[in-house]
Amino acid sequence: MMFSKSHGNESLRLRLWFLLPLASVLLITTVVLVLSIHRHVSEDIDRETAETARLAEHLYHEAIDSSASMLGTAMEVLATDQALHRGLADNDRALLLRRSVPLFAELRRKYAITHLYFSDANRVNILRAHQPVRSGDTISRETTLQAQRTRQTAYGVELGPLGTFTLRLVAPWFDADGNLSGFVELGMEIDHVLQLVQHIAGVKTFVLIDKQFLNRREWEAGARMLGRLPNWERFPDVVVNNQAAEDLPMELTRQLAESRIAERKTMASPEPGASAYRAIFLPVTDAARRNVGTMVMLLDVSAQMQALKRLTRESVLVGGIACLALFGLFYWLLGSVGRRLEQDTRYLLDLAEHDGLTGLYNHRMYYLRLDEEFVRRSRTGAPISLLLLDIDRFKSVNDRYGHLAGDNVLKTLGELARRSCRAMDIACRYGGEEITIILPETDAEGAVAIAERLRRTIEIHPFPLGDNKDGHITVSIGVATSSESIPSSTDLTESADSALYRAKAQGRNRVECATPCPVQAPSVEQPAPQSVL
Ligand code: GH3
Ligand code: MG
Ligand code: MG
Repeated sequence: MMFSKSHGNESLRLRLWFLLPLASVLLITTVVLVLSIHRHVSEDIDRETAETARLAEHLYHEAIDSSASMLGTAMEVLATDQALHRGLADNDRALLLRRSVPLFAELRRKYAITHLYFSDANRVNILRAHQPVRSGDTISRETTLQAQRTRQTAYGVELGPLGTFTLRLVAPWFDADGNLSGFVELGMEIDHVLQLVQHIAGVKTFVLIDKQFLNRREWEAGARMLGRLPNWERFPDVVVNNQAAEDLPMELTRQLAESRIAERKTMASPEPGASAYRAIFLPVTDAARRNVGTMVMLLDVSAQMQALKRLTRESVLVGGIACLALFGLFYWLLGSVGRRLEQDTRYLLDLAEHDGLTGLYNHRMYYLRLDEEFVRRSRTGAPISLLLLDIDRFKSVNDRYGHLAGDNVLKTLGELARRSCRAMDIACRYGGEEITIILPETDAEGAVAIAERLRRTIEIHPFPLGDNKDGHITVSIGVATSSESIPSSTDLTESADSALYRAKAQGRNRVECATPCPVQAPSVEQPAPQSVL
């Protein structure tokens, strides 16, 4: 059938039209969902990181200030000791040693003070109460210089040669006449500050010191003294401060060495289940306002990252199931809509092309098919013949047996015409009780033979006339064959019509040719049954 080629893939076409955009929309929705989950979780982590950074910075400065004020209190206690004043003014190392050692022991116990220096007005060290074997060197650290310059107490964090940070407070002492006697210095390690930040802010804290401020040998000695294995080459430009409470996790060491640690970037170990961190960087400034290092705080964001993974997995799963369900539903729906559409289209096309009573091609299709044959003929040159059948005295059938019986006769005639056709022949209801049969690639002789056989078949066929009665009818047939003088479908139809007219005129129930009829082979005919007409 002609329509099946153009409309047979209706379901497939519908599915492609609807399912491709649907699949794209579902895919985009799932991707947008996953991205938005990522954005939300990432914003949460950013917020928490920023808050922790603020808290850590605040804690660090608070702890340094309160430690400095503690050193200030200790300094006030020392300043009340007249013997110490005298010892400093007279540069009396023995007196200072005698008085300060027990005092220092108490300060160490009470305030965790680790350093106590006495230096003269020229900053030459008279005594280190915490390390009496060393003296006589000039103290040139920023806090001491500042105290000398301003003649006031100075304090700040200073990086020692061992790679440790010490909070130092230096006070200039004066004699009764207001002359500078020298400087007293108190110091404490800032481990406790780092530990405080670590505990309160809930972060792993490390201090990285810029190598340019350190001497490798001294730093290594310091590390060994503090029970650590020194590794100067671990990072290109920095070393890990020996006061850090914990060592850096291996994976982070690698990332740090490759300078891949950055703020706002989550670091995760490739091992499953290992922790993920966000890094917070806080510059560490010494008393001379030099950026000597960086405090790296690692905020553990493993819980958020796990939640992110779980949410991503779940949304992909839910999205996938929803996609599949919708896809399946639409696939099925469109399939059945498509099938329905195909059926309806087929039905409509059938109505548009066929005659409702006989089921033969209608008048419109007759001309379409005949034109097609003429197009083919222009290529092949093969002749086309046409039979035009008209029932003899059909009005009388209607009049005598009623129109319903007439319809049944027409239906049966259509069936006979179709059955007598070859596969390539095309039977049509031309109009009224006229039937045309297009015979492609058939010359006049063949056409006459077919027409004669059909005429005879109809003549002897019992037609139902209602009330269980059968009767016989006859037809007249006009035959025409394409030729140079009959070059088109209308010419061929007109020629067959003229031949039919002649057949009627010459007594009906006969075959007439448009051109002189080829000689028919004599056939031994049975006597015709009596016609009902
Ligand atoms: P003739 O031998 O000259 O052909 O005589 P006729 O009575 O057959 O005359 P004609 O071909 O002119 O008549 C056509 C008649 O066919 C007219 C009409 O009543 C009848 N007819 C046409 N179409 C139908 C149909 O669909 N159903 C029925 N029952 N009758 C039809
Ligand atoms: Mg007629
Ligand atoms: Mg007729």
